[in-house]
Amino acid sequence: MGRREEKFDVIVIGGGPSGMMCAGRAAELGAHVLVLEKNSDLGNKLKKTGGGRCNITNADFDKESFLSNFPKAKRYLYSPYSKFSVSDTFDFFESRGLPLVTEARNRVFPQTQRAQDVFDVLEDYMKEGGVAIRKNVRIASVEKKAGKITSVTDERGQQYYADNFVIATGGLAAPDTGSTGDGMLFLKKLKHTVGEPNPNLVPLKTDTKWIHNLSGITWSFMKIRFVQNGKTQVRKTGKILFTHFGISGPLIINSAYEVKQLLRKGSVEAVIDLFPDTEEKMLDKKMIKLLEKNKDKKMKNVLPDLLFKNIALEILALPNLKMTEAYAKDISREQRKEIVHTLKNLTFPISGTCGMEKAIVADGGVALDEVDFKKMRSRKYDNLYLLGDVLNVNRPSGGFSLQLCWTTGYVAGSDIGMQERRA
Ligand SMILES: Cc1cc2nc3c(=O)[nH]c(=O)nc-3n(C[C@H](O)[C@H](O)[C@H](O)COP(=O)(O)OP(=O)(O)OC[C@H]3O[C@@H](n4cnc5c(N)ncnc54)[C@H](O)[C@@H]3O)c2cc1C
Repeated sequence: MGRREEKFDVIVIGGGPSGMMCAGRAAELGAHVLVLEKNSDLGNKLKKTGGGRCNITNADFDKESFLSNFPKAKRYLYSPYSKFSVSDTFDFFESRGLPLVTEARNRVFPQTQRAQDVFDVLEDYMKEGGVAIRKNVRIASVEKKAGKITSVTDERGQQYYADNFVIATGGLAAPDTGSTGDGMLFLKKLKHTVGEPNPNLVPLKTDTKWIHNLSGITWSFMKIRFVQNGKTQVRKTGKILFTHFGISGPLIINSAYEVKQLLRKGSVEAVIDLFPDTEEKMLDKKMIKLLEKNKDKKMKNVLPDLLFKNIALEILALPNLKMTEAYAKDISREQRKEIVHTLKNLTFPISGTCGMEKAIVADGGVALDEVDFKKMRSRKYDNLYLLGDVLNVNRPSGGFSLQLCWTTGYVAGSDIGMQERRA
């Protein structure tokens, strides 16, 4: 049979987590499935998730509580979630030989701590069902006729035919992984409403040099406030990671959306309390003792007793302190209080959010009321399915994005597979 005539029950565009889950499920139910992936490998983004460990879901088994993490999309997600929930994710991976472990904040990882192992489970799932996979195929257009998708065409002009089509091409975050927003363009051309993409879960930038100098340091417990016009607008407590461009870590990434809204209105300052569990007075008492014990030492050798040396040195060099070379015995009461106050109120301006390159998730995607969530099918084309990051669903970090992929992929795959069974 010539390639022109080759026809599948379903073509999945995009071999990310949602596309692979969908392909595997449809094939399990007997569908003839083809996955088209533009990269030379599937799942490039998946393999990077959770710093290579893959935060696969979030172990909140209460439906209401879990879905409250998707404030705007919650009402749409009840139906698909009732078909494939967090406990189904546990069953799916554990029954395929990948035990999962739950860490702080309900974040779930494979026990092996390897995202590659999550990928391997999905690859085996697809193999078992006989899914055909073509790599290095970038779909360039989607053709339609009379309310149906008829074919897709790659950039070399090769056309692919199927009864059903799945757009699982991801969003625009981290485009180096292959997610360059092609699906959004197809959907716009198909007259779907697609929101403007913006980096959403993303680290924050500052132009403050001394913060850049702290790059690589993780401070495991601090309080951060984002202040505008002297008023605290956002307040979070937890871990922070300093980077060569600013600040990062789950807590910061999850604040980015609100900070971005504030930045639209004016300037924003971050204020970090490095010792949120210790009142300023108590910290001052600690400092008095520290200075007395180390009278004859220079401050650059004294302050590192309280915090990482790099942070201590950057703080001592700040313009309001300038005490790096001062001896502890020479520190006045006012100077001591100023050090303590600075440790509780490290202040620097936020210049913006990092771009798509460093984003985990981007805003935008297809409008949710244009999707039938019982099947994950377009309401405009009854043989077109939309999954994962292609949907306009805001959510925090912590495994919620991948759960969205497992849920939407499974539901679409089931619907497609059941059609083939009935046929
Ligand atoms: C650094 C990083 C860490 C993350 N960590 C986590 C985490 O720990 N937990 C979590 O829940 N979420 C995490 N996320 C988010 C999560 O990875 C995404 O939400 C998820 O990968 C989306 O899956 P998807 O299937 O919708 O699309 P994607 O994973 O983006 O996959 C889309 C696929 O489609 C292919 N494609 C695109 N256009 C075309 C085309 N025209 N033709 C053919 N193929 C095409 C792409 O090459 C890609 O392989 C992380 C994201 C990043 C960037």
